[in-house]
Amino acid sequence: MKFKTIVIKVGTALVTKENNSLDTDFLKSFVKQIAELKKSGAKVLIVTSGAVASGRSELVFKREDNIPCKQALAAVGQGILMNVYRNLFSRHNIATAQVLLTNLDFKNRESFINTRNTLDLLMRFDVIPIINENDVTAYAEIKFGDNDNLSAKLAAMVGADSLIILTTVKGFYTDDPTKNPKAELIREIRNIDAGLKKFAKGAESKKSLGGMASKLAAAEFTARSGIKTYIAAGTDENILRKIISGEKCDCTVIYPSTEKHTSRQNWFKSQVKSGCAIIVNECTVAPLKTGGKSLLPVGIIDVRGKFSRGDFVEIIGPHGKLLGLGQSNYSSNDLGKIKGCKTPDACKIFGVGFEEEAIHRDNMVIL
Ligand code: GLU
Repeated sequence: MKFKTIVIKVGTALVTKENNSLDTDFLKSFVKQIAELKKSGAKVLIVTSGAVASGRSELVFKREDNIPCKQALAAVGQGILMNVYRNLFSRHNIATAQVLLTNLDFKNRESFINTRNTLDLLMRFDVIPIINENDVTAYAEIKFGDNDNLSAKLAAMVGADSLIILTTVKGFYTDDPTKNPKAELIREIRNIDAGLKKFAKGAESKKSLGGMASKLAAAEFTARSGIKTYIAAGTDENILRKIISGEKCDCTVIYPSTEKHTSRQNWFKSQVKSGCAIIVNECTVAPLKTGGKSLLPVGIIDVRGKFSRGDFVEIIGPHGKLLGLGQSNYSSNDLGKIKGCKTPDACKIFGVGFEEEAIHRDNMVIL
């Protein structure tokens, strides 16, 4: 079977109506398609938004411009959301489980493993995990920001083959299709570059967080984790069935740019500080890739971004190719001082407390 494990993400604009009540017609058809998918043997995980919006149908604040209000709405709405999913799936004799996560569950290695094990167990017992961000406890530093990002990280965590992001438009266009009638649907994406990112417009809604730019960022993450992503309109009749059966349909497919990663590689990926990298010289590529060696300051030609000791960074070859990921023993500032230095010279700069490796091989994964 082509699709073994699939993460399907639905946004607030699809699951709720204008008046913030849940759109049960949409959800009925969505749940029915997933039930069919499960019958074919696929393991499915759902990432659903809609908690904050549904909360508004039962709890009204005069002004809800502060975070506690949104968190209270999410707390009320999450129960409403789960109740509807549970009822609809029970008509197909499928059990569901509520899973609420924050970015901390991905950052902390122990939580990461525990979460993955629980999800594996639920799927082994044919339960569908229904996942949302834990909006009640999440604060800025540990927030995913939007559920597109959460769904991408989740897909990598469970080693999914595909991520399907359902939204209000048919896929990724050359411009916002709701504003520009000439905008064209891009059906296949094999490389996400700066030019493509400029097209990322639209699919924002008043009630939800992610727009097309966050969908593309999610797809970039999954592509680099070896996972295929589809962006499609949830309102398109039987869209899931069409995608899964390979029937011709309007959507955008973003192909993986690498082989599927191992769980350890995926965990490292989820740790990397955005925009931070160490660039190494040509002589260092082979010892790192095949020799199982640590990265020494002498092999470093440049440092990108601002990071602290202990942060995870990308390791990039001299021609821009991503070689691996690792936890740096030095801050970007300190690495700047010792890049290219042989060990004795680097040792002179730092004296006591000097660590020979910029990244130790035990704290590194090669991709
Ligand atoms: N977690 C939020 C909710 O359920 C939505 C986040 C998003 O729109 O991406 O309401």
